[in-house]
Amino acid sequence: MTGTDTRCDVLVVGSGGAGMSAAVAARDLGAAVVVITKAALGASNTGRAQGGIQAAVGGDDTTGDHLEDTLAAGHGDGDPALVRTLVEGGPGAIEWLSSLGVAFTRDDGTLRVIRCGGARRPRLLQAGERTGAEMVQALRTAVRASGAEVRESTALDALERTGEGWRATICARGGARAYVDAGTVVLAAGGGLGGEAARIGERSTNHPDATPEVLEMALALGAAGRDLDSWQRHPTGAVWPSGLAGYALPETTRSYGATLHDADGERFVDELAPRDVVADAIIRIVAEGRGAAAPDGTMGVWLDTPAIDRDNGPGFTAERLAYVHNRYLKQGVDITTERVLVYPVLHYRNGGLVIDAQGHTTLPRLYAAGEITGGVHGTNRLMGNSLLDTVVFGRIAGAAAAREAAA
Ligand SMILES: Cc1cc2nc3c(=O)[nH]c(=O)nc-3n(C[C@H](O)[C@H](O)[C@H](O)COP(=O)(O)OP(=O)(O)OC[C@H]3O[C@@H](n4cnc5c(N)ncnc54)[C@H](O)[C@@H]3O)c2cc1C
Repeated sequence: MTGTDTRCDVLVVGSGGAGMSAAVAARDLGAAVVVITKAALGASNTGRAQGGIQAAVGGDDTTGDHLEDTLAAGHGDGDPALVRTLVEGGPGAIEWLSSLGVAFTRDDGTLRVIRCGGARRPRLLQAGERTGAEMVQALRTAVRASGAEVRESTALDALERTGEGWRATICARGGARAYVDAGTVVLAAGGGLGGEAARIGERSTNHPDATPEVLEMALALGAAGRDLDSWQRHPTGAVWPSGLAGYALPETTRSYGATLHDADGERFVDELAPRDVVADAIIRIVAEGRGAAAPDGTMGVWLDTPAIDRDNGPGFTAERLAYVHNRYLKQGVDITTERVLVYPVLHYRNGGLVIDAQGHTTLPRLYAAGEITGGVHGTNRLMGNSLLDTVVFGRIAGAAAAREAAA
């Protein structure tokens, strides 16, 4: 093996919302931080998120309501201490992101909040229509400004315990290998559901780098996992045109009034029920032979997107859902006049590594945050809670890892 040894206090693996939040938090405490990431800094599922981020900042909302909604959507399988940490960290996470430059959408100066599936109150914040991309841009700037050492196009290949922490074998694109010796490690490599989908031949919404090798590495080292086989399907994956296969129409389409119909035009589910309820209902309708066929024979159900402008007035879709509107227009479909065919698509791993409220895994000096962890979302994540998870637990894990490395 060749390569130069690097020493640092905290090694962060991955640069989605969780990894970049962890890196900034660790640098804030003065730790020497190295970030390794498979592609460019910020290339991740986080950057793909369109829907938004949940936090109890609306007038009549409370963190208690957010807690109850999150536990209920997760079928009571969430770890109450982690869920409490998540929801109580919500308002602070929004303030922090705003301080980094994320411009959350406001109406007359007040943060705009939207009600989404499984939430009893309007709680979803958006930064324009591509909240994840806005977050990534702000976090990327913060990481660069923090002085963390960033190694792009570099993957974690192996981890082994040393007396003082961990030794990571890393592999740069092109094959050059090197070691990083770190006092503590924060695993923030995501849930890897894109890789799982490829293994079983299904479509997924995930970034091509969303593969599960880091999760598997931690489990093989003996870290405890939970709910690993609990995978979430996004209810409204595009079925047609085929150029959009794997694209998920954001949940906000349903928040704004798009309704789901079988081939005969009958509605069959509360469109704002939790995700698994809506996805299961669509799968059942198609299995019962009540679905509609795309020109290539792929089955789905109708999402009545023209209902959005019928409910809210002409021009509403073009303004509030410009990104999805334009994506379909490029494929020759105007969602303001034509309904679209949808079917659930693999999206998110609900479970992952067991952590405590400091982001500590069950292995010494090993932390984790974001989609690679389990317990925060039980066995069904509430839409918008994942971006929040990355910031709240990313910051907590980064700070805890820095403190332990310095102790
Ligand atoms: C299309 C889409 C839309 C979504 N919309 C929303 C939404 O609106 N609201 C919401 O809350 N959630 C949404 N989600 C879910 C949410 O975006 C993700 O769950 C969350 O961003 C995961 O963040 P993360 O930091 O844990 O991991 P990721 O963002 O997946 O980042 C993982 C990082 O780890 C790196 N990595 C992986 N393996 C290695 C390795 N071996 N070595 C080094 N680096 C590695 C990757 O390159 C990447 O940088 C959406 C997800 C998708 C795919």
